[in-house]
Amino acid sequence: MSRPPSVDQLARSIEADGLPHPLRVEVARRAIADGRVDDADDLARARRRRLLTPVINATGVLLHTNMGRAPLGVTTEPSFTNLELDLATGKRGSRQHAVGDLLATACGAEAAMVVNNCAGAVLLTLAALGAGRGVAVSRGELVEIGGGFRIPDVMNQSGARLVEVGTTNRSRLDDYARARDTDDDLAMVLKVHRSNYTIVGFTEEVEVDRLATLGVPVVADIGSGLLDAACPWLDGQPPSWLEGEPAARQTLKAGADLVLFSGDKLLGGPQAGIIAGRRDLVEQCGRHPLARALRPGDLVLLALQDLTLAYLDRRGHDIPFWRMASTPVAELERRAEAIVASVGAAVGAAGGRLASAATEAVPGGGTLPTVTIPSHGLRVDGDVTEPLRAGDPPIVARVEEGSTWLDLRTVDPQADDELIDALARALGQADAGDATTGGATTDGATATTDGTGPAA
Ligand SMILES: *Cc1c(COP(=O)(O)O)cnc(C)c1O
Repeated sequence: MSRPPSVDQLARSIEADGLPHPLRVEVARRAIADGRVDDADDLARARRRRLLTPVINATGVLLHTNMGRAPLGVTTEPSFTNLELDLATGKRGSRQHAVGDLLATACGAEAAMVVNNCAGAVLLTLAALGAGRGVAVSRGELVEIGGGFRIPDVMNQSGARLVEVGTTNRSRLDDYARARDTDDDLAMVLKVHRSNYTIVGFTEEVEVDRLATLGVPVVADIGSGLLDAACPWLDGQPPSWLEGEPAARQTLKAGADLVLFSGDKLLGGPQAGIIAGRRDLVEQCGRHPLARALRPGDLVLLALQDLTLAYLDRRGHDIPFWRMASTPVAELERRAEAIVASVGAAVGAAGGRLASAATEAVPGGGTLPTVTIPSHGLRVDGDVTEPLRAGDPPIVARVEEGSTWLDLRTVDPQADDELIDALARALGQADAGDATTGGATTDGATATTDGTGPAA
């Protein structure tokens, strides 16, 4: 009987690029404890796969919460920034001004500030402007956003008092006026966008322009972060699927005193929450102690600054989200056909399981729940999601009716070569291992003779 190796020996023998020594030690310790010394390399690879890594999103969900919503690139050399330094005076400045001023210009507000996410923006606004006072909300807008964010609970946490208005399906201006007249201290009317559900049938709601006639500050949580309904940063018209989505500029113009929105939904930036509108109210939010707890770091502010500059320059093509959102279907079709041809050339007859196919993408990220976007991609007979996910970079696809679907709208064209390699490997592998899979009648030989068979 051979004795198990020492933890240190095993840790040093583990092959897994990019896994620091202390993590190899953890893996080795566990492998020995579980009697799985021979699996140590696999365990180490599995451990490394739990690190954050770029993935290819082929689901057709443009803003996929599980994949960080909007696609993001942060590549900066290490350096200090003038985060809170006023370069004109050499004195301490505010981290909010650089990006806040840009965002204010971009959506036509007097001022704007940034916090960690839109949930934080709602909490801070309620706490700063409404603590100990009444906040009127329609009963049709007492929403739960994903992740357990519920308006009544947030209201509680902020110290504001919820004043329910109207009914689930119908709220009228009169209902709000009654709340204003009967509550001794109404701080604001809060309008919450029904981001992730719709109410249809016998319904009525009051738009911001009419709420603004009540003589009470109106705060609109629009959630999605569409800056301007006219999308002036795009070459063409706004996509038709955006119709009816509230936009920051138009909501402020209609009379909202503040708008609150996410950084990583339709804005297409990093996780952040933006509070924009009347200067005195934004400043009141900035002075509240919670503002310190919710403040963003320079990575987020830098990413938002780049993004907002692109918006102001009308460079929609430099914003990955808008590139995805506005790609013509014909272009996706061309890419799909080229991928099918390349994979076919690599795996021979096994490529018969792969076809170019029309798809429907969705905005996702808890926005526009009933909207689909015409799109195009690939269909593979059978479920190959696991080998695709196991690749480097991992590719996330979806399964429907026994087929794997890859939507090209959410895939950057630069990743098409990686898609080709991964599909060739997946089809070659499935064939080599399981001759009965899908419609492929040829064998692993096709796949292995040209070097695209089971990968090491
Ligand atoms: C998504 C959403 C939020 C929460 O935004 P996060 O940035 O995810 O915190 C709040 N309100 C509305 C209306 C939303 O759609």
